Amino acid sequence: MKALQFNVTPPGFIAAKAISLIFGNKVYLKGPFKTVRLVEIPEPAVPSGQWVKLKTIFCGFCGSDLNLMMLHDSPTASPFSSFPCIIGHEVVGRIVEKGPEATQFKLGDVVTVNPGLGCTVRNLSPQCAVCAAGRSLNCENSAEGDLPPGMFTGLNSGVTGGFAPFICAHESQLFKVPDSLGMEAAAMTEPLAVALQTVFDNMPEPSDKILVIGGGVIGNLVIQVVRTLCPDAGIALIEPAAHAAALAQDLGQADIIPFKEAYRTAAELTGAAMYQPQLGQPVFMGGFDRIYDTVGNSATLNMGLRILGPFGTLSLVGIGSDVKLDLTPLWLKLQNIKGVYGYGRVTYQGETRHVFDLAMEFMNEGKILTAPLVTHTFRLEDYMEMIEVNLNKARQGAVKTLVRFD
Ligand SMILES: [Zn+2]
Ligand SMILES: [Zn+2]
Repeated sequence: MKALQFNVTPPGFIAAKAISLIFGNKVYLKGPFKTVRLVEIPEPAVPSGQWVKLKTIFCGFCGSDLNLMMLHDSPTASPFSSFPCIIGHEVVGRIVEKGPEATQFKLGDVVTVNPGLGCTVRNLSPQCAVCAAGRSLNCENSAEGDLPPGMFTGLNSGVTGGFAPFICAHESQLFKVPDSLGMEAAAMTEPLAVALQTVFDNMPEPSDKILVIGGGVIGNLVIQVVRTLCPDAGIALIEPAAHAAALAQDLGQADIIPFKEAYRTAAELTGAAMYQPQLGQPVFMGGFDRIYDTVGNSATLNMGLRILGPFGTLSLVGIGSDVKLDLTPLWLKLQNIKGVYGYGRVTYQGETRHVFDLAMEFMNEGKILTAPLVTHTFRLEDYMEMIEVNLNKARQGAVKTLVRFD
């Protein structure tokens, strides 16, 4: 079968980085330093134990896939990945074969996949403290156990990722898709789970003033989740692309902060006092109660802390590499920065729920709309076109792109 493979070696990484300084990012997409290609690999074997084989229906293309292939990721996380790997971690598929000990699902069930490859999947017992808390993507044993290193399906040389017609998954990774939920919506479960966990981990008070930085898929879904859980919260968005900003206005009634006048507009929206330091950008007294930064680079984080209010919490959802940060506002205004990665169980209306189940329920009930976000669908063979669209999202009017399988 044909599958989309990412590969880079340590010497290749250094050489490609050096050459990209002259020729730009295109060195990662063609020529000797190309990082992704369609390869012929054997179909996954009949699964053993608690593993099942899925026929892929859709797999979403994620901003993190693009960062991976453009070598934007910090090498700090490299011990918890292994290459070459078949990428893709936003999967919906149908169970076509089961291992003898896989008893939780039936053949033919349509499921979404929690890509986290934690202790259970790695056959490690007892679980680490992080898995025991339900956060398998953040497992402390991501480089240990029965599998090669790699935090999730799509970043592990031993587990086929979703950009392939067939994949294998451990039954503990699976969540049954309700019959009434469409397949494209089911493919949005993983990104919506990210957004849900982001908000549950930094839950607004009813009258809070919220800022979301970045109106891509995750930013838009964070806005919709806040709107669903805290209908009266004030939500603002900083997003330079007009089509993405318009979607956030439509789907989450967000106030759009123009990129060039971010400080002045943010001060007006929050009623904060804006002070001009001797050097550098303004700093607020008052400001937003919570910020969800889906970009996470030096510019957004430095601005975020300056316009975040006292005792405020900034959730770091996206992560840029090599961030340089003036922590003075955090120190001065007693703020917190909270890392957000992966997902698990949350308490909703008094019940413990996994955010994958909650995500599908919210989509099924129409509380969260994902159809307007799916702007493009591709065949796997057209992956280069899909990458080009994702590199030019503003020009292409693209938000979420999916790969569709037969
Ligand atoms: Zn993703
Ligand atoms: Zn673990």
